[in-house]
Amino acid sequence: MKEVHYNGLTFVPYIENEKIAARIKELAKVIKRDCEGSVPLFICVLNGAFPFAADLFREVDMDAEITFIRLKSYQGMQSSGVVKEVIGLSEDIKDRTVIIVEDIVDTGKTIHNLMEDLKKKQPAKLKIATLLFKPEALVCDVKPDYVGFEIPKKFVIGYGLDLDGIARNLKDVYQLKENA
Ligand code: 5GP
Repeated sequence: MKEVHYNGLTFVPYIENEKIAARIKELAKVIKRDCEGSVPLFICVLNGAFPFAADLFREVDMDAEITFIRLKSYQGMQSSGVVKEVIGLSEDIKDRTVIIVEDIVDTGKTIHNLMEDLKKKQPAKLKIATLLFKPEALVCDVKPDYVGFEIPKKFVIGYGLDLDGIARNLKDVYQLKENA
């Protein structure tokens, strides 16, 4: 594997697709065990989570459903700054087992706001699955239930994660090379 270049930045190979696939198999087994007796609804947060959600969903060997949402940012009036509105959720999640599928949890603000919104709809269980988690960057009281990889506070791209809209189609995850 070699370095890739986008917008004048250099990225080095970080997590290979084979390693991601193997980890997803493990997560899928745990999810199946945890969700026994229910038909979980996976909610994929677009755009970044789509490769992870597709791979994870196909590995979960049980009856399950998947749907897709987007978080539309708008400038809120509160001091907290950017508020993200959920768009696209047409399913009734009341009394259901719901698994939010994210690409990355960084500060945790996005997932925290999303959880608060979804809790109002009274799901039976609300879990978070994220491919990547940066614990050092976390500023919110959230704890992802299913984590692919804990990573340091460095910018990554690939496997759904973008740099200004590009690089999502890289099969592997790459990390920004510092002082390049
Ligand atoms: P949070 O609200 O947890 O700070 O950030 C969540 C969002 O920030 C992610 O869904 C993602 O869009 C973006 N993000 C955070 N860290 C990274 C990163 O290292 N690489 C990329 N491509 N996006 C990131």
